[in-house]
Amino acid sequence: MTDQRHDDTNTTRRRLLVGTLAGAGVLAFGGLSGCARAEETTGRTAANANTPADQGPVTIAVYDSDGRLQGLQQRPRVIHTPAEWRAQLSRAVYHITRESGTERAFTGAYYKLPSQHGLYRCVCCDTALYDSATQFHSGTGWPSFYQPINAHNVVEHRDSSFGVTRTEIACTRCAAHLGHVFHDGPQPTGLRYCMNSAALTFHPLR
Ligand SMILES: [Zn+2]
Repeated sequence: MTDQRHDDTNTTRRRLLVGTLAGAGVLAFGGLSGCARAEETTGRTAANANTPADQGPVTIAVYDSDGRLQGLQQRPRVIHTPAEWRAQLSRAVYHITRESGTERAFTGAYYKLPSQHGLYRCVCCDTALYDSATQFHSGTGWPSFYQPINAHNVVEHRDSSFGVTRTEIACTRCAAHLGHVFHDGPQPTGLRYCMNSAALTFHPLR
């Protein structure tokens, strides 16, 4: 996670495509109609609360409050106990981000395209995750993006729950469950990052 990856768009895209190939066999759960089944979980328990196995620092792309890239920076992981997360998050947000839950379609705050440009950040640790310029109308009822704001800021995990292999997307810094990525998105990546609104906060930019 702390390698020498470059931060240019082509590299990012290449990594995304490599990740796609590596995940061959991943099924789009329910196709475009589904991000995941409402109320499902990936089988993680509150006991682990999406705590990463590796607790060392991470390298993420840092964006300031004006949305400007400050560069790749090493930051400590954000690790809390389940009790600490529960104190910080609402019950619903805790379930989605720390227990890999899924909000019901068309109920989240961000499934409609925003009226102005902005960045979406992690609700748990404020890491920048998506630029609204990459958001598209998927019709799924979940906010959908064709790429993360930076490949360093999200991590992929193989998710084999419910007898279906999917690729889970989590926050690099705090391991929050964000959603899944599917291969039926629009160009330029052909990917659809299907996110839970509850895992995000939107920050409008001027
Ligand atoms: Zn986070």
